[in-house]
Amino acid sequence: MLILKTKEDLRAFKDTLAGAPIAFIPTMGALHQGHLSLIQLAKNYTQHILVSIFVNPTQFGPNEDFSAYPRTITADCELLKTTPTTALFLPETQTIYPSGSTTQVIVPKLTTLWCGKSRPGHFDGVTNVVHRLLNLTQATHLILGEKDYQQYCIINKMIHDLSLPTTLLQGPTLREKGGLAMSSRNRYLNKNDRLIAPTLFQTLKKIQENFKNGENTTKNLLQSGRDLLAKIPEITLDYLTIVDPITLEERSDRALPNDRILIAAKIGSTRLIDNLNLM
Ligand code: AMP
Repeated sequence: MLILKTKEDLRAFKDTLAGAPIAFIPTMGALHQGHLSLIQLAKNYTQHILVSIFVNPTQFGPNEDFSAYPRTITADCELLKTTPTTALFLPETQTIYPSGSTTQVIVPKLTTLWCGKSRPGHFDGVTNVVHRLLNLTQATHLILGEKDYQQYCIINKMIHDLSLPTTLLQGPTLREKGGLAMSSRNRYLNKNDRLIAPTLFQTLKKIQENFKNGENTTKNLLQSGRDLLAKIPEITLDYLTIVDPITLEERSDRALPNDRILIAAKIGSTRLIDNLNLM
């Protein structure tokens, strides 16, 4: 596996590929099996797989965990060596944000809903870093996880609106045995948090099950989820909602099979998100 640190390294790497397709998996490191599953998915599209690890400062709010975010580069490299990754891009902040650079790519509306409300500016950081990474890598395929469903929708819109020459693909959410979605932030959970964290997925499953059993009133579906969450006082709910799968607007009356259930909650000081198809 090649290690690329600069723009020049990237350019030299691309030159060796002579225009062959590149699948790109951007990450913030602290890799887990969920990340690795995206690499496996990439193999279906090309043999040239580029992974990046960059803890992007612009997507963290002032009171968020940027400095505490787990950085485990040695372990990450060991893990990546067990995968078909061709090259690992480890940019300095300066490479992504050259000094004095002020240009922004903003996706209005979608970025202000749900996680965008609780984390103002977060998705602007995401669109900007992904846009810059796509420009630098010139990747033909971008692979993102379904786990960050809102992020996927926003990047999909950015690619569409700017006619970026990249095919966006989505990998399914990998989960722990109890259903907890794998996440780098799960490292923050203590023993008790770990026991209760699967409740988020159980809430989504409960709503899905009720819908499959014929209930389609959004209010009733959400109430069944809230009832379950109410049993665990250690969970502080940010939002639980059923939304249109593209616009992410809340379904106010009757839910439809393709709708998405989204949840975000804090367990202790750890904020977790998850989502599920209604059907
Ligand atoms: P992150 O390092 O958290 O920024 O995530 C990098 C990529 O991995 C994003 O596209 C995530 O959606 C994806 N990802 C994170 N967790 C999982 C998971 N449990 N299963 C599948 N993909 C995931």
